[in-house]
Amino acid sequence: MSDLLNVDDALAQILSDIQQLDAETVALAESLDRVIADDIASPLDLPPFDNSAMDGYAIRHADSAGASQEHPARLTVSQDIRAGDAPAGELSPGQAARIMTGAPIPGGCTAVAPVEDTDDNWRRDDAALPAQVRIFRSFASGANIRRAGENVAAGARIMKTRTVIQAAEMGMLAAIGCARFEVIRKPKVVILGSGDELVDVHEAIRPGQIRDTNSYALAGLIRGAGGIPIRLPIARDQLAEIRALYRHALSINPDMIISSAGVSVGAADLVREVMDELGDIDFWRINMRPGKPLAYGALCGIPFFGLPGNPVSTMVTFEVLVRPALAKMAGRDLQRRSITATLGEDMHSDGRRSYNRVRLAREGAGIVARSTGTQSSGALMSMLLADGLAIIPQGQRVARSGNEVTVLLLRPFE
Ligand code: AMP
Ligand code: MG
Repeated sequence: MSDLLNVDDALAQILSDIQQLDAETVALAESLDRVIADDIASPLDLPPFDNSAMDGYAIRHADSAGASQEHPARLTVSQDIRAGDAPAGELSPGQAARIMTGAPIPGGCTAVAPVEDTDDNWRRDDAALPAQVRIFRSFASGANIRRAGENVAAGARIMKTRTVIQAAEMGMLAAIGCARFEVIRKPKVVILGSGDELVDVHEAIRPGQIRDTNSYALAGLIRGAGGIPIRLPIARDQLAEIRALYRHALSINPDMIISSAGVSVGAADLVREVMDELGDIDFWRINMRPGKPLAYGALCGIPFFGLPGNPVSTMVTFEVLVRPALAKMAGRDLQRRSITATLGEDMHSDGRRSYNRVRLAREGAGIVARSTGTQSSGALMSMLLADGLAIIPQGQRVARSGNEVTVLLLRPFE
């Protein structure tokens, strides 16, 4: 099997060809899960001004020195400051201002006494302002005051390039007034297929025909990897139709083209003829199972993958070789998470690096991996049942029950 190309060498070649895409502008409300194209710094302090952390009374902390339940400090209430009010006039010694959470503290204020520590028992902020307030304990300088810039100082970097925008990032971008910003463009990926036996899901099916499953599974994989899938109709096994399909794909000017089928030995000729007309494609025989034959290169300069047609091979070769390429284009992490598990049964291989569909279970202190059943490359149920792909290294013909194995996670597993 020395003529087979190593998975790692194939991936290294692919990743050296593929480049990150350019940026586009996105509106904040539409930015969930997008990847930011540049570092983002805050143009302002957060919070933007000193403000109260509590509903209560803004005071000069020295006025509360020695105060207790028995000997409260008595202060004159000079003003009422609500959230959204502009910073108000100074507090003189002996004065307090009723203040709401988030309202700017007045000049001279060095602490906020929460309403619970006063003799005021207002429930609503439209309650009449009392003339005086009693404070039942003492406060240190700064108590219950949120200082301008204490969360983020103006000029500080708040997000690194290639951060994936989640809810907290959206909130923070709103806080700094960032309504539109630059994100890495999502790769536009055309999906092609060909075969006389294939019919689309909504079409009538004749004996001998099967449904095109790959274009739907690939669309899901592409979207999940941060791309935009574009499915084109399946071509019959005729040169003119396949040529028209590939031309149509190129006319869309996508960032990547993925076809499934047409790379197996019997099927290759027609598709290969079109590939040779339009591009520079290598036929790789990769040292992996499932999924040995794979076409890779560029069609009129657009990165191209010709994946094997068996549904499991299509999905597994996508996981191993295409997902990292799409992720690099999209500025995302190249690999899915992998974990170490213990094999719950013997697993056999033919010496190629094998990606076996496994179910995971937490047992005792560890995680046990067991086969989802048949590992046939046509058995799509084995993908539905799989939590991950257990990797049996190249050259190994059996991996024994009880041995450790690396599992590439296909879905979250805690
Ligand atoms: P081929 O490479 O054309 O010989 O295809 C290999 C196997 O994959 C055959 O059993 C095909 O029927 C199957 N196949 C190819 N394309 C698809 C598809 N889009 N959906 C489901 N099965 C497919
Ligand atoms: Mg075919």
